[in-house]
Amino acid sequence: MAKYSSKINKIRTFALSLIFVGFIVMYVGVYFRNSPTIMTIFMILGLLFIIASTVVYFWIGMLSTKTIQVKCPNCGKATKMLGRVDMCMYCREPLTLDPELEGKEFDEKYNKKR
Ligand SMILES: [Zn+2]
Repeated sequence: MAKYSSKINKIRTFALSLIFVGFIVMYVGVYFRNSPTIMTIFMILGLLFIIASTVVYFWIGMLSTKTIQVKCPNCGKATKMLGRVDMCMYCREPLTLDPELEGKEFDEKYNKKR
């Protein structure tokens, strides 16, 4: 169970790593300052990663509006869930909106359309 984390947190981590990759790529580009073409390519690549991250952050914003606020039955805190099944942001208790799935083993694939 511990390998699952709340989906929005997962996407947020992804967006953050994109920024890091972007900066690393740009940093590598600085080493090629003697050849402006290669440096420019690295700079553009790095910039693309950062733009991609901005897009992902925007997407998180969009997703956040679709989340449903629920009270976690396990820890009692208000958490947000996305899709049919998700996980409590605080205690990682699997949550479901679908009574059919209640009590079943948590599985990401329940979110996919059948
Ligand atoms: Zn909880």
